[in-house]
Amino acid sequence: MATPSGKTWVGVKLSLDKKRAFPLTFEKIRSWKIEPIFVEVFNKELMLPRSGANPSLENKKVLLIGCGSVGSEIAHKLGSAGIGRIDIVDPDKFSTSNLYRHTLNGNMTDWPKALAVAFQLQEKFPWLKVNSYYNSLLDYRKSDILSAYDLVVIAIGAPTHERLFHDYLVKSGVKVPVIYNWLEGYGIGGHAVLDIPGQPGCLRCAYVEPNTGIRGLASNLNFIEPNQNVVKNYAGCGEMFIPYGAISSTQTALIAVDLAVGYLEGKLTESTKVSWKGDSLDAKHEGLNLTPRYQIFTSSLKKHPLRHPLCDVCQPKEFITYQSKCGKRLYLPQTLNQKLCTYRQQEPESVESAGLLIGYYNQKDEVLIDTFTTPKASDHRTRTTFKLESHSHQAEIEKAYTISDQLLGYVGTWHTHPENIPHPSNPDKTDWRTHEEDNHDRPLFFIVVGIKTTSVYTLEKGNVIELSIVPK
Ligand SMILES: [Zn+2]
Ligand SMILES: [Zn+2]
Repeated sequence: MATPSGKTWVGVKLSLDKKRAFPLTFEKIRSWKIEPIFVEVFNKELMLPRSGANPSLENKKVLLIGCGSVGSEIAHKLGSAGIGRIDIVDPDKFSTSNLYRHTLNGNMTDWPKALAVAFQLQEKFPWLKVNSYYNSLLDYRKSDILSAYDLVVIAIGAPTHERLFHDYLVKSGVKVPVIYNWLEGYGIGGHAVLDIPGQPGCLRCAYVEPNTGIRGLASNLNFIEPNQNVVKNYAGCGEMFIPYGAISSTQTALIAVDLAVGYLEGKLTESTKVSWKGDSLDAKHEGLNLTPRYQIFTSSLKKHPLRHPLCDVCQPKEFITYQSKCGKRLYLPQTLNQKLCTYRQQEPESVESAGLLIGYYNQKDEVLIDTFTTPKASDHRTRTTFKLESHSHQAEIEKAYTISDQLLGYVGTWHTHPENIPHPSNPDKTDWRTHEEDNHDRPLFFIVVGIKTTSVYTLEKGNVIELSIVPK
């Protein structure tokens, strides 16, 4: 029966004390007894949305590699999201040492983990297709297999293997998005990154060393400093463990699945990172040193761009280098230079544009421009003047500062001039001197975009110095 809220199912039971043909007219039905029957509809279209799943995910195929304490939780949450097919891979058998932080029951000891979790999911989610494989991550460096999936989720907690896998993806050009996730011991936190091929931001962005800019072996997302002994050897068993409880593994699974569902639903379109930060009490009790990121981190569960300005895999590789006589350098990515050139005042009526430069201090006197703010509706602009409405520009600086873990910040300004070869005006020089006085601990750079050429300046003890392009 069609009703305004959709299809409604009605059940009635007709009975009579003697045998009679089914009453086809109203007259004949009068002597029958009519009772309602409770109808519970077991159909996919109705049950999926009513129980919190998203029917639009039923055609999605996910490959889940690793189903330990984190992976098994991920499998369950992917299933409950309504994903149509999950292929689970794990090379291990289920052992009792995992019991309290795993979704599997004790009677599944010695089962291959992937098979046991697939069995569990099949029982719980009637319309989910599940397959299990007794393999390892590195067996999946096969482009034809990977490209059949909408998403790969890796929950093996082995950074070296993850980086090898990522190397393969970069080299082979397989366009499959991957979520990597891991937790740190002692309840300190966990991390998940979504790496969408072709988008800025990749797994290696999470491994750029904050100070040197080179690729490291420990993730820059981590809260525990590397090269410390974080494993424990419990008496009586030869294996070493990183101590963590089920709350840590479930929490880590949740941030990973949140990324997975967000991506599959089309809500997340750029490479993203998420961390959750826990209490430091246990780690401190163990005498472990925590990273500066732990101290400054205030964005638990928030999704931020994964992109790291210094990543040598996914970030711009073509720069224009400007240098001053005193050795100050500015690196401007070609892509940003092209974007700046779009603001050139080529038409007689075009007004000035301006914004703030956001960048990273490579070394004391070297800056890498990462991005810049662009004119806002609230700015005041004429042919030869420009006044920034500082709040909205400043807000972008603060956002970049927070999401880059305080790596990126204000490094100068840019603006356009309606002259072919730009020269700084007296108001420009006065303005720059004020900026320099407010930021005396580091050099600032000022870009002026003319109609034909672009000039870059810095200040040296109040004097305006022009930088020149370093030939390649
Ligand atoms: Zn990258
Ligand atoms: Zn000017």
